[in-house]
Amino acid sequence: MKYAIISDIHSNLEAFERTLLEIDDIGVNWIICLGDIVGYGANPNECVDIIRERNIISIMGNHDVVACGRKEPIDFNPIARDAALWTRNELTTENKDFLNNLPQAKEIEDFLIVHGSLSDPDLYIFSNEDASMEFHLMDNYNICFFGHTHVRIYYVYLNNLIENFYDDNIGINGDNKYLINPGSVGQPRDRDPRASFLIYDHKDNEVKFIRLEYDIYSAQEKIILAGLDKRLAYRLSVGL
Ligand code: ZN
Repeated sequence: MKYAIISDIHSNLEAFERTLLEIDDIGVNWIICLGDIVGYGANPNECVDIIRERNIISIMGNHDVVACGRKEPIDFNPIARDAALWTRNELTTENKDFLNNLPQAKEIEDFLIVHGSLSDPDLYIFSNEDASMEFHLMDNYNICFFGHTHVRIYYVYLNNLIENFYDDNIGINGDNKYLINPGSVGQPRDRDPRASFLIYDHKDNEVKFIRLEYDIYSAQEKIILAGLDKRLAYRLSVGL
């Protein structure tokens, strides 16, 4: 099976559509989304509609939980909270129900997908120390894909040693364990504003990270027109 793994779309329709165009060009069996379909951007319903129409396998992100009304944004910063409540108001009942029914984590073939981490969907994996705890929870699984940080990276665990890498390709070695983050489609935070995702070829044991330019200006314009915080528009230009 060949998978496209995407994460943190955050209602950015321009970035999402550009990414899907590329994925269709490549040709995959399944598209997997690691959560945060909505929040921050101006097109929450359109993004959820696409996830539903295209049968994209998805799990729930911390913004999805709040947007569908299941949780209040008590631990969100003011900008994220306002955007989440704006999104809740915009979403149709059907799309809220869809988000509310997403699982928190999932096993696919022989690998795992989570939003933040295995131990807690809200927890960020930012360091080798954070990754260490997660590797110990992976049991017999070799690969876990995660999102939430909006930063493309992968961690490798072998013989009690953890290393992290930013290169474009991974040749999966069955003796190692991997924690892999595809980066964010709709709000990258690694100082590269291009949409980020990856292709995982399960049969050939290969992972390839991909970056794409998209129409950032239109996404920004819509955020401002919707009355969302202008900083949510500006950050898209700088990838922060
Ligand atoms: Zn996110």
